[in-house]
Amino acid sequence: MLWRDRRESSNVEDARGESLGRGGSGPLGLHMLIGRLFGIKGILIALVLGAVLWTTGIVNPGRLLSDRTNGGAPAAAVSAEEQDQFNFVKVVLADTEDIWTAEFARHGIKYELPVLKVYRQGVRTGCGDASAAMGPFYCPEDRKVYLDLSFYNELARTFHSPGDFAQAYVLAHEVGHHVQKLLGVSDKVSAMHGRPDYNEYSVRLELQADYYAGVWANHSKQYLERGDIEEAMRAANAIGDDAIQRQMQGRVMPHSFTHGTSAQRTRWFTKGLNSGTLDGGDTFSIPYTSL
Ligand SMILES: [Zn+2]
Repeated sequence: MLWRDRRESSNVEDARGESLGRGGSGPLGLHMLIGRLFGIKGILIALVLGAVLWTTGIVNPGRLLSDRTNGGAPAAAVSAEEQDQFNFVKVVLADTEDIWTAEFARHGIKYELPVLKVYRQGVRTGCGDASAAMGPFYCPEDRKVYLDLSFYNELARTFHSPGDFAQAYVLAHEVGHHVQKLLGVSDKVSAMHGRPDYNEYSVRLELQADYYAGVWANHSKQYLERGDIEEAMRAANAIGDDAIQRQMQGRVMPHSFTHGTSAQRTRWFTKGLNSGTLDGGDTFSIPYTSL
């Protein structure tokens, strides 16, 4: 994707040097880290092991946690590669701003710009504390997209979806959730919480965000290089947020639900790619089995 020397969004908060502070990263963050490395079995084993060590007095977990939070995260040096990624997401966010401002205006609506908060490891959000293990997400409460750049390494390695366009697609999907917030769709779906068919609404919401990511891709055609669309498709295929957030415990956030099959995600991304407009992204009116 051609992105160098292009406009960068100014709606980006760089929180990479901040830590959650006392108590913020807590045992949940620690367990999620373990969960990320070893899966759910790892979490259980760690919990049991921790309890045994604690009761036998070998380890004081309170001490462990305070050590972890008192000094804050050490200020890690920013590599040239990471700074490149940071500048890259600023350009992609700027693209989404231009595209959605124009598309909303075409429908007589004002597009309010979302904020992208780039963090490292842990972050406090309007939707509760979050850890990088949760993957990128959008918080409708504070209207911010949260991204830990290390996710992009994971996208390349674990999900075999390397490439800048795949990275851009992930961000465009999150911005798609912001579009849904502005259009009132997310609030309607949230209101369904507790209903037995809530998961179906969640899937419809996710597929619509994929459609909106496709709309962004349509308007970014001029910046495409060979293989870019395939990169995005591969990512759409490989990452259900469900796969990324399998280990998430406790907090209920939009991304902790089912996201539709890989085929569905690819299909709705392609629909958006072909249409390039808000219209055509109605994932709510058609029968669930026809998604
Ligand atoms: Zn999503």
